[in-house]
Amino acid sequence: MLDIYTIGADVLRKNAAPIEKFDDELAALVGKMFETMKLGKGVGLAAPQVGLPHRLFVIQIEGDKPRVFINPEIVETSLELDSFEEGCLSIPGVYADLDRPAAVRVQALNERGRRFTLEAEGFLARVVQHELDHLNGVLFTDRLPERSRDRLLKQYEKRMRA
Ligand code: ZN
Repeated sequence: MLDIYTIGADVLRKNAAPIEKFDDELAALVGKMFETMKLGKGVGLAAPQVGLPHRLFVIQIEGDKPRVFINPEIVETSLELDSFEEGCLSIPGVYADLDRPAAVRVQALNERGRRFTLEAEGFLARVVQHELDHLNGVLFTDRLPERSRDRLLKQYEKRMRA
């Protein structure tokens, strides 16, 4: 299992770099990321969360296949917004409702370097957007209104100190 970096770590605030080599090493990393995500009971995990500033994330939501996204780009978003409760393995124990586009079209490469386009909606669209934010140094709490963000992060820090 890989170590999961939590809020406060510099790597979570970096603009991650594109992946250029699609080799066995990358395949092994993808495997370890799925393993780490499952052990953490997460549904998505981005490379910066395991200390690697690379444009890569993995997702597996219930009832769906494992999905790998490398150098992903959201090319279209719906005007319609959805509210969902989000959490993050990098901010353990913090959950909050957040509005985001209800559907997205994302283009990415898989672990073999093959390009694909995915139309995601519902929970999958939510997780894709959350994970893609990680590649740009953004945490879901950044998107909350300042007052609720401050309150949640204060509670989190208090718990971490206890
Ligand atoms: Zn996260």
